[in-house]
Amino acid sequence: YAAKRARQSVCTYQPEMSTRLVRRVQMADRLEHALRDGSLSLYYQPQVSLADGRLLGAEALLRWNDAVLGQVSPDEFIPLAEHRGLIGPLGQWVVKTACHRLRAWDALGLRLPGRLAINLSPRQFDDAELAARLITQVRQAGLQPHRFDLELTESGLMADPETSMATLRQLKTAGFSLSLDDFGVGYSSLAHLKGFPLDRLKLDRAFVRSMLEHRNDYAIVVATIAMARSLELDLIAEGVESPAQAATLLELGCRFAQGFHFDAALPADQFMARWLRAPASA
Ligand code: C2E
Ligand code: MG
Ligand code: MG
Ligand code: MG
Repeated sequence: YAAKRARQSVCTYQPEMSTRLVRRVQMADRLEHALRDGSLSLYYQPQVSLADGRLLGAEALLRWNDAVLGQVSPDEFIPLAEHRGLIGPLGQWVVKTACHRLRAWDALGLRLPGRLAINLSPRQFDDAELAARLITQVRQAGLQPHRFDLELTESGLMADPETSMATLRQLKTAGFSLSLDDFGVGYSSLAHLKGFPLDRLKLDRAFVRSMLEHRNDYAIVVATIAMARSLELDLIAEGVESPAQAATLLELGCRFAQGFHFDAALPADQFMARWLRAPASA
Protein backbone atom coordinates (compact mmCIF):
# COMPACT_ATOMS: atom_id res chain seq x y z
CA TYR A 1 0.00 0.00 0.00
CA ALA A 2 2.80 2.37 0.94
CA ALA A 3 4.57 1.57 -2.31
CA LYS A 4 1.39 2.27 -4.23
CA ARG A 5 0.93 5.51 -2.37
CA ALA A 6 4.51 6.47 -3.10
CA ARG A 7 4.03 5.69 -6.78
CA GLN A 8 0.86 7.71 -6.86
CA SER A 9 2.44 10.67 -5.16
CA VAL A 10 5.41 10.47 -7.48
CA CYS A 11 3.01 10.51 -10.39
CA THR A 12 1.09 13.38 -8.85
CA TYR A 13 4.08 15.54 -8.05
CA GLN A 14 6.45 14.70 -10.84
CA PRO A 15 5.24 17.04 -13.57
CA GLU A 16 5.28 20.08 -11.32
CA MET A 17 8.56 19.13 -9.67
CA SER A 18 10.32 18.45 -12.91
CA THR A 19 9.12 21.74 -14.38
CA ARG A 20 10.56 23.56 -11.41
CA LEU A 21 13.73 21.50 -11.49
CA VAL A 22 14.19 22.07 -15.20
CA ARG A 23 13.73 25.80 -14.67
CA ARG A 24 16.32 25.82 -11.89
CA VAL A 25 18.86 23.86 -13.88
CA GLN A 26 18.23 26.02 -16.92
CA MET A 27 18.43 29.16 -14.80
CA ALA A 28 21.76 28.16 -13.27
CA ASP A 29 23.11 27.53 -16.73
CA ARG A 30 21.78 30.83 -18.08
CA LEU A 31 23.10 32.70 -15.04
CA GLU A 32 26.64 31.61 -15.81
CA HIS A 33 26.23 33.14 -19.28
CA ALA A 34 24.62 36.24 -17.81
CA LEU A 35 27.93 37.19 -16.24
CA ARG A 36 29.27 37.69 -19.78
CA ASP A 37 26.32 38.24 -22.13
CA GLY A 38 25.10 41.68 -21.06
CA SER A 39 21.74 40.52 -19.69
CA LEU A 40 22.54 41.74 -16.17
CA SER A 41 22.21 45.36 -15.18
CA LEU A 42 22.23 47.51 -12.09
CA TYR A 43 19.30 49.77 -11.26
CA TYR A 44 19.53 52.59 -8.76
CA GLN A 45 16.91 53.46 -6.14
CA PRO A 46 17.10 56.94 -4.60
CA GLN A 47 17.47 57.24 -0.83
CA VAL A 48 16.03 60.50 0.41
CA SER A 49 15.70 62.78 3.39
CA LEU A 50 12.09 62.60 4.64
CA ALA A 51 12.15 66.24 5.74
CA ASP A 52 12.78 67.73 2.31
CA GLY A 53 13.05 64.92 -0.24
CA ARG A 54 16.74 65.63 -0.77
CA LEU A 55 18.71 62.82 -2.43
CA LEU A 56 21.08 61.30 0.10
CA GLY A 57 22.36 58.29 -1.78
CA ALA A 58 21.18 55.32 -3.79
CA GLU A 59 20.90 51.56 -3.54
CA ALA A 60 22.21 49.49 -6.45
CA LEU A 61 19.81 46.63 -7.27
CA LEU A 62 20.53 43.81 -9.71
CA ARG A 63 18.25 43.15 -12.67
CA TRP A 64 18.46 40.15 -14.96
CA ASN A 65 16.64 40.10 -18.26
CA ASP A 66 17.44 36.74 -19.85
CA ALA A 67 16.77 36.03 -23.52
CA VAL A 68 15.09 32.70 -22.71
CA LEU A 69 13.71 33.12 -19.18
CA GLY A 70 12.71 36.76 -19.42
CA GLN A 71 12.95 39.03 -16.39
CA VAL A 72 14.05 37.04 -13.32
CA SER A 73 13.76 38.54 -9.83
CA PRO A 74 16.88 38.78 -7.66
CA ASP A 75 14.86 37.08 -4.91
CA GLU A 76 14.91 34.05 -7.22
CA PHE A 77 18.37 34.15 -8.80
CA ILE A 78 20.47 35.36 -5.84
CA PRO A 79 19.72 32.24 -3.74
CA LEU A 80 20.40 30.12 -6.82
CA ALA A 81 23.72 31.88 -7.39
CA GLU A 82 24.63 31.18 -3.77
CA HIS A 83 23.70 27.54 -4.15
CA ARG A 84 25.62 27.13 -7.40
CA GLY A 85 28.81 28.83 -6.23
CA LEU A 86 28.19 31.79 -8.56
CA ILE A 87 27.70 34.41 -5.88
CA GLY A 88 31.42 35.31 -5.81
CA PRO A 89 31.62 36.24 -9.52
CA LEU A 90 28.15 37.83 -9.37
CA GLY A 91 29.12 39.97 -6.38
CA GLN A 92 32.28 41.04 -8.19
CA TRP A 93 30.25 41.94 -11.28
CA VAL A 94 28.04 44.17 -9.12
CA VAL A 95 30.98 45.98 -7.55
CA LYS A 96 32.72 46.39 -10.92
CA THR A 97 29.58 47.80 -12.51
CA ALA A 98 28.85 50.10 -9.57
CA CYS A 99 32.43 51.42 -9.69
CA HIS A 100 32.22 52.07 -13.43
CA ARG A 101 28.99 53.96 -12.90
CA LEU A 102 30.35 56.18 -10.13
CA ARG A 103 33.47 56.86 -12.21
CA ALA A 104 31.35 57.78 -15.23
CA TRP A 105 29.25 60.19 -13.15
CA ASP A 106 32.39 61.63 -11.52
CA ALA A 107 33.87 62.21 -14.98
CA LEU A 108 30.79 64.28 -15.89
CA GLY A 109 31.27 66.34 -12.74
CA LEU A 110 28.23 64.71 -11.16
CA ARG A 111 29.26 63.44 -7.79
CA LEU A 112 26.55 61.25 -6.29
CA PRO A 113 25.48 62.78 -2.98
CA GLY A 114 26.01 60.41 -0.06
CA ARG A 115 26.98 56.85 -0.77
CA LEU A 116 26.12 54.13 -3.22
CA ALA A 117 24.71 51.14 -1.33
CA ILE A 118 25.60 47.64 -2.49
CA ASN A 119 23.94 44.45 -1.24
CA LEU A 120 26.07 41.59 0.02
CA SER A 121 24.38 38.22 0.28
CA PRO A 122 24.88 35.93 3.29
CA ARG A 123 27.06 33.38 1.51
CA GLN A 124 29.55 36.07 0.48
CA PHE A 125 30.60 36.19 4.14
CA ASP A 126 31.85 32.60 3.94
CA ASP A 127 34.76 34.01 1.96
CA ALA A 128 37.48 35.05 4.43
CA GLU A 129 38.99 37.19 1.65
CA LEU A 130 35.77 39.16 1.09
CA ALA A 131 37.02 42.38 2.71
CA ALA A 132 40.42 42.29 1.01
CA ARG A 133 38.77 41.61 -2.35
CA LEU A 134 36.26 44.46 -2.01
CA ILE A 135 38.90 46.94 -0.90
CA THR A 136 41.20 45.97 -3.77
CA GLN A 137 38.42 46.05 -6.34
CA VAL A 138 37.24 49.51 -5.33
CA ARG A 139 40.75 50.98 -5.14
CA GLN A 140 41.75 49.46 -8.47
CA ALA A 141 38.73 51.17 -10.00
CA GLY A 142 40.21 54.43 -8.73
CA LEU A 143 37.63 54.98 -5.98
CA GLN A 144 37.68 55.22 -2.21
CA PRO A 145 35.64 52.83 -0.03
CA HIS A 146 33.92 55.80 1.63
CA ARG A 147 31.86 56.24 -1.54
CA PHE A 148 30.03 53.01 -0.65
CA ASP A 149 27.64 51.62 1.89
CA LEU A 150 27.47 47.83 2.22
CA GLU A 151 24.10 46.26 3.05
CA LEU A 152 24.36 43.08 5.09
CA THR A 153 21.79 40.79 6.62
CA GLU A 154 21.74 39.10 9.99
CA SER A 155 21.91 35.62 8.52
CA GLY A 156 25.11 36.61 6.74
CA LEU A 157 26.69 37.78 9.96
CA MET A 158 25.46 35.04 12.27
CA ALA A 159 26.61 31.99 10.30
CA ASP A 160 30.14 32.58 11.57
CA PRO A 161 30.08 35.66 13.81
CA GLU A 162 33.84 35.73 14.47
CA THR A 163 34.86 35.66 10.81
CA SER A 164 32.08 38.18 10.01
CA MET A 165 33.34 40.46 12.76
CA ALA A 166 36.87 40.37 11.34
CA THR A 167 35.51 41.07 7.85
CA LEU A 168 33.37 43.99 9.05
CA ARG A 169 36.25 45.53 11.02
CA GLN A 170 38.45 45.46 7.91
CA LEU A 171 35.71 46.99 5.77
CA LYS A 172 34.95 49.65 8.34
CA THR A 173 38.61 50.55 8.80
CA ALA A 174 38.96 50.91 5.03
CA GLY A 175 36.11 53.45 5.02
CA PHE A 176 33.02 51.52 3.92
CA SER A 177 29.85 52.28 5.83
CA LEU A 178 27.82 49.28 6.98
CA SER A 179 24.04 48.92 7.01
CA LEU A 180 21.97 46.09 8.39
CA ASP A 181 19.32 45.31 5.75
CA ASP A 182 15.79 44.02 6.40
CA PHE A 183 16.04 44.90 10.08
CA GLY A 184 13.38 43.31 12.24
CA VAL A 185 12.57 40.22 10.18
CA GLY A 186 15.63 38.12 11.03
CA TYR A 187 16.66 36.44 14.24
CA SER A 188 17.50 39.86 15.66
CA SER A 189 19.82 38.81 18.40
CA LEU A 190 20.32 42.34 19.60
CA ALA A 191 22.99 41.13 22.03
CA HIS A 192 25.03 39.95 19.06
CA LEU A 193 24.21 42.85 16.81
CA LYS A 194 25.44 45.49 19.21
CA GLY A 195 28.96 44.04 18.87
CA PHE A 196 29.12 44.59 15.10
CA PRO A 197 30.51 47.92 13.85
CA LEU A 198 27.29 48.96 12.08
CA ASP A 199 26.42 52.48 10.96
CA ARG A 200 22.81 52.08 10.00
CA LEU A 201 19.70 49.94 10.25
CA LYS A 202 17.31 49.54 7.36
CA LEU A 203 13.83 49.05 8.76
CA ASP A 204 12.26 46.22 6.75
CA ARG A 205 9.43 47.19 4.47
CA ALA A 206 7.11 44.63 6.08
CA PHE A 207 6.70 46.97 9.07
CA VAL A 208 6.36 50.12 6.99
CA ARG A 209 3.71 48.48 4.81
CA SER A 210 1.31 47.85 7.66
CA MET A 211 2.35 50.42 10.23
CA LEU A 212 -0.77 52.51 9.68
CA GLU A 213 -3.16 49.56 9.79
CA HIS A 214 -1.73 47.38 12.54
CA ARG A 215 -0.92 48.56 16.05
CA ASN A 216 1.83 45.97 16.46
CA ASP A 217 3.69 47.08 13.34
CA TYR A 218 3.33 50.68 14.41
CA ALA A 219 4.73 49.77 17.84
CA ILE A 220 7.72 48.01 16.24
CA VAL A 221 8.43 51.06 14.09
CA VAL A 222 8.32 53.33 17.14
CA ALA A 223 10.56 50.97 19.14
CA THR A 224 13.07 50.61 16.31
CA ILE A 225 13.35 54.37 15.90
CA ALA A 226 14.01 54.73 19.66
CA MET A 227 16.51 51.89 19.66
CA ALA A 228 18.44 53.19 16.66
CA ARG A 229 18.66 56.57 18.34
CA SER A 230 19.97 55.21 21.63
CA LEU A 231 22.46 52.92 19.88
CA GLU A 232 23.51 55.95 17.79
CA LEU A 233 22.75 54.22 14.51
CA ASP A 234 21.20 55.88 11.49
CA LEU A 235 17.88 54.47 10.42
CA ILE A 236 16.38 54.32 6.96
CA ALA A 237 12.83 53.11 6.33
CA GLU A 238 12.43 50.77 3.33
CA GLY A 239 9.35 50.41 1.19
CA VAL A 240 7.71 53.77 1.82
CA GLU A 241 4.82 53.79 -0.62
CA SER A 242 2.45 56.52 0.54
CA PRO A 243 2.58 60.16 1.66
CA ALA A 244 0.89 59.10 4.93
CA GLN A 245 3.66 56.62 5.70
CA ALA A 246 6.33 59.21 4.90
CA ALA A 247 4.67 61.85 7.08
CA THR A 248 4.18 59.48 10.00
CA LEU A 249 7.76 58.19 9.87
CA LEU A 250 9.08 61.73 9.87
CA GLU A 251 6.83 62.67 12.79
CA LEU A 252 8.12 59.66 14.73
CA GLY A 253 11.71 60.77 14.20
CA CYS A 254 12.84 58.67 11.25
CA ARG A 255 14.83 60.90 8.91
CA PHE A 256 15.68 58.73 5.91
CA ALA A 257 13.64 56.63 3.51
CA GLN A 258 13.44 54.88 0.20
CA GLY A 259 10.42 53.47 -1.56
CA PHE A 260 7.97 53.74 -4.43
CA HIS A 261 6.47 56.94 -2.93
CA PHE A 262 9.74 58.58 -3.99
CA ASP A 263 11.03 56.33 -6.76
CA ALA A 264 11.47 52.71 -7.68
CA ALA A 265 14.89 51.43 -8.70
CA LEU A 266 15.71 53.07 -12.04
CA PRO A 267 18.12 52.38 -14.89
CA ALA A 268 21.27 54.52 -14.58
CA ASP A 269 20.20 57.17 -17.10
CA GLN A 270 16.73 57.61 -15.59
CA PHE A 271 18.22 57.72 -12.12
CA MET A 272 20.56 60.43 -13.37
CA ALA A 273 17.64 62.48 -14.73
CA ARG A 274 15.79 62.09 -11.44
CA TRP A 275 18.86 63.16 -9.52
CA LEU A 276 19.43 66.23 -11.67
CA ARG A 277 15.95 67.53 -10.93
CA ALA A 278 16.16 66.58 -7.22
CA PRO A 279 16.24 69.42 -4.66
CA ALA A 280 19.81 68.38 -3.68
CA SER A 281 21.24 69.65 -6.94
CA ALA A 282 18.93 72.63 -7.39
P1 C2E B 1 16.64 44.50 -0.50
O1 C2E B 1 18.11 44.76 -0.49
O2 C2E B 1 15.93 44.55 0.80
O3 C2E B 1 16.06 45.54 -1.54
C1 C2E B 1 14.81 46.15 -1.41
C2 C2E B 1 13.82 45.56 -2.38
O4 C2E B 1 12.56 46.22 -2.21
C3 C2E B 1 14.18 45.73 -3.84
O5 C2E B 1 13.65 44.60 -4.55
C4 C2E B 1 13.41 47.00 -4.22
O6 C2E B 1 13.17 47.12 -5.61
C5 C2E B 1 12.15 46.80 -3.43
N1 C2E B 1 11.46 48.04 -3.10
C6 C2E B 1 11.97 49.27 -2.97
N2 C2E B 1 11.02 50.18 -2.62
C7 C2E B 1 9.88 49.48 -2.51
C8 C2E B 1 8.51 49.85 -2.17
O7 C2E B 1 8.18 50.99 -1.88
N3 C2E B 1 7.58 48.84 -2.16
C9 C2E B 1 7.92 47.55 -2.47
N4 C2E B 1 6.95 46.65 -2.43
N5 C2E B 1 9.18 47.18 -2.79
C10 C2E B 1 10.14 48.13 -2.81
P2 C2E B 1 14.51 43.83 -5.62
O8 C2E B 1 15.30 44.81 -6.43
O9 C2E B 1 13.59 42.89 -6.31
O10 C2E B 1 15.56 43.02 -4.76
C11 C2E B 1 15.15 42.01 -3.89
C12 C2E B 1 16.28 41.55 -3.04
O11 C2E B 1 17.30 40.91 -3.85
C13 C2E B 1 17.01 42.68 -2.33
O12 C2E B 1 16.32 43.05 -1.15
C14 C2E B 1 18.35 42.04 -2.04
O13 C2E B 1 18.28 41.23 -0.90
C15 C2E B 1 18.55 41.17 -3.27
N6 C2E B 1 19.43 41.87 -4.21
C16 C2E B 1 19.14 42.80 -5.17
N7 C2E B 1 20.25 43.22 -5.80
C17 C2E B 1 21.28 42.54 -5.24
C18 C2E B 1 22.71 42.53 -5.45
O14 C2E B 1 23.29 43.29 -6.26
N8 C2E B 1 23.46 41.66 -4.68
C19 C2E B 1 22.88 40.87 -3.73
N9 C2E B 1 23.68 40.03 -3.03
N10 C2E B 1 21.56 40.86 -3.50
C20 C2E B 1 20.77 41.69 -4.24
MG1 MG C 1 19.23 46.14 0.32
MG1 MG D 1 15.89 45.44 2.50
MG1 MG E 1 15.32 41.96 1.09
